[in-house]
Amino acid sequence: MIAFYNAVLRGSENTAMLVDDGRIVLCSTDEEILKQVSKTDETVDLKGQYVISGFCDSHMHLLELGFFLSGIQMHGCKCFADVKALIEKRLQQKDQWIIGRGFNEQLFTDRCIPERKLLDEISKDVPICLTRSCGHLMCVNSKALELAGIDENTEVEGGSIDLTRGILYENAAVHMHEAWPKPDVSQLKRYIELGMKECNRYGITTVGSDDFLSVTADYEKVLDAFEQMSYQQKLTVRVTEQCEFSSLKDYADFLDSGYTMDVGNDLFRIGPLKLVCDGSLGARTARMAKPYKDDPKNKGVMLYTKKQMEDFTDMAHHFNTGVICHCIGDGALDEVLQIFAERTLPDNPLKDGIVHCQIMRADQLEKISAMKLVSYFQSLFIDSDAKILTDRVSSELAGTCYPYRYLNEHTIACNGSDAPVEIPDVMKGIQLAVLRKTMDGTAEMNQDECLTADQALDSYTLNGAKALSIDADNGALKTGYHADFAVLDRNPETCRKEELSECHIVMTVMNGDTVYQRGLD
Ligand SMILES: [Zn+2]
Repeated sequence: MIAFYNAVLRGSENTAMLVDDGRIVLCSTDEEILKQVSKTDETVDLKGQYVISGFCDSHMHLLELGFFLSGIQMHGCKCFADVKALIEKRLQQKDQWIIGRGFNEQLFTDRCIPERKLLDEISKDVPICLTRSCGHLMCVNSKALELAGIDENTEVEGGSIDLTRGILYENAAVHMHEAWPKPDVSQLKRYIELGMKECNRYGITTVGSDDFLSVTADYEKVLDAFEQMSYQQKLTVRVTEQCEFSSLKDYADFLDSGYTMDVGNDLFRIGPLKLVCDGSLGARTARMAKPYKDDPKNKGVMLYTKKQMEDFTDMAHHFNTGVICHCIGDGALDEVLQIFAERTLPDNPLKDGIVHCQIMRADQLEKISAMKLVSYFQSLFIDSDAKILTDRVSSELAGTCYPYRYLNEHTIACNGSDAPVEIPDVMKGIQLAVLRKTMDGTAEMNQDECLTADQALDSYTLNGAKALSIDADNGALKTGYHADFAVLDRNPETCRKEELSECHIVMTVMNGDTVYQRGLD
């Protein structure tokens, strides 16, 4: 047994917890808890610090996060020269491929997109692939195009290729993924480990993760890696897999082999089917009902036909499995809401849901609320999207976009990072949900839709557990629940709103084990 005492426990008058075999077996006063332990038991003095149930990042890509952490990370780049410097440094390591993620030219001082010509100037012999932060656009050099066999005859369904500029949109990137060196199961496990470490640093102990079509096209290997790690008790975050498939036949085989929703264990379990229905706002590929304000001929793209989405949804529902749809534009959302209107069961027991919840109209919000769809949102996006939202859509529409307060009142509203799209910094996400202002304060979104700190903390804990249907023993500090929690160096319930992102994680405990300790990483 371990006694954690002298703490401020979120949502409780108690100050101490007794942990045994991965569970909280008692919450009480310091006195009571310390009375229960024997001399051989461990005691941990939390020095009056704030303790919250381990955070749940309800939608991310854990494997891809680890994969990109092993490559070049461009999240901090401020201009093309920064990108170039990172690539040149990597070239010295003699990697077979230079793979990077996270640039956002909208935030560059020179607004310079790393096109083919620029990348060719850096290297003609080593293939370079740089994925934009949103994940919906990839810039490549000539060598990468050559190795992937991409030329003017290459066809793409649900995407496009700008050969001259070396830009691959949406599904076109799949051609590149197929050319990358194939990771084996042990390599995949290493990526998962890297991704988990990053999660634990930010106090995350549970994720809804979409991994089957990223990094490798071979989902069976990914499944193998996760299952092996769960049996060997090597997972330091609990994973609910949001199963993404591009072929109906593959998904049918998967379901037929018994992989329906909820199959698995406490560490790794099968979640809903995930459908990526459209693109992103940053890449202007999100499917809009009306053309983009700053690109009047463009309405973005739909990545599936209506018939495909119907067939996928029917198949999942037939196997008692829910469906969650990536919809960023209101045009994509219109189609998905039609499909759910005819299929989602009363009270939505399978937890069908909408992932991202960005460009939304008032009439759509009413439908989402009536159907009780789960809303998976990512307040971290506000930091970049607040700067472009009113360039892309009318100011009237902008008023109902990213509507967190509405969603929180009417649906199970859970937060997440969509990592590696964003670094999974939970407390930054909480500040953005509360202030709805960019971190530099230069842009903001509709202030009527701000969450309170308490609501934002729920969006990363209890609501995530509810969305993933694991709230019977996850998402709160209660007797009988998993001993998953984060210790913070400030109290987010009492600090100033502008300081929320400065509440740092001191320690993360998962299943009773310390998986992160500040200063030791
Ligand atoms: Zn995603």
